[in-house]
Amino acid sequence: MATITLANLVKSYGKTDVIHGINLDIADGEFVVFVGPSGCGKSTTLRMIAGLEEVSGGEIRIGDRVVNDIDPKQRNIAMVFQNYAIYPHMTVRQNIAFGLYTSSLGKAEKEARVTEAAQMLGLEALLDRRPSALSGGQRQRVAMGRAMVRSPAAFLFDEPLSNLDAQLRAQMRIEIKRLHRRLGTTIAYVTHDQVEAMTMADRIVVMKDGHILQAGTPMDIYENP
Ligand code: ADP
Ligand code: ADP
Repeated sequence: MATITLANLVKSYGKTDVIHGINLDIADGEFVVFVGPSGCGKSTTLRMIAGLEEVSGGEIRIGDRVVNDIDPKQRNIAMVFQNYAIYPHMTVRQNIAFGLYTSSLGKAEKEARVTEAAQMLGLEALLDRRPSALSGGQRQRVAMGRAMVRSPAAFLFDEPLSNLDAQLRAQMRIEIKRLHRRLGTTIAYVTHDQVEAMTMADRIVVMKDGHILQAGTPMDIYENP
């Protein structure tokens, strides 16, 4: 479980600031969706939380630990990408288990986690298949499974559904919400899809030009656009 705090967070590339000192407290178990026009800094913010991008100023805290200089692998958070990042030559089981590749857990515990994730994601019957024999939504679930087995304190999603067709997107929205309800894990989720934001978020954070314009419940945002 984890809170995520952004305190006066700045990101610059050379002399250009792309994130201008943003402040945000994400509560333990909260589902926060970042929206805003392309280039406003959503992805950069998420990547800094993940540790894939260096912080130029301010602080990121996970729980009460400042993680600015902490290796991504030690942050106990998992990132789920839109391009799935799953391996074609491995089965579903192997792809999910790969999330625990360097983990020190015992074999039985690893297998139990893979089975549990597969059950939650409705992938049990597909464990011996290769990704080429899966639908887009099933592949996205494999990517989620690989993140889930690590039992992260938080999930970061960067446009996870944008490669899917409308019907699959609708289905995956419901499944990700259900997963969130079951696991209670903190989620920071980036999308440019209004429907995803409105239907999934506990709180929507609207960004523009590297600033936070507005943050509130979907109802707040809907009523005061
Ligand atoms: P969003 O996810 O909201 O579309 P990004 O976080 O990807 O926006 O980008 C924010 C800004 O930072 C954009 O102006 C983008 O061009 C710039 N940017 C992102 N990555 C780099 C980089 N590696 N070098 C220079 N500028 C970058
Ligand atoms: P450790 O935390 O034990 O050092 P690694 O970070 O090296 O483990 O991850 C082991 C493997 O799990 C990586 O090679 C990577 O492919 C996969 N993995 C790591 N993080 C994620 C993630 N957020 N989502 C999906 N797979 C991941």
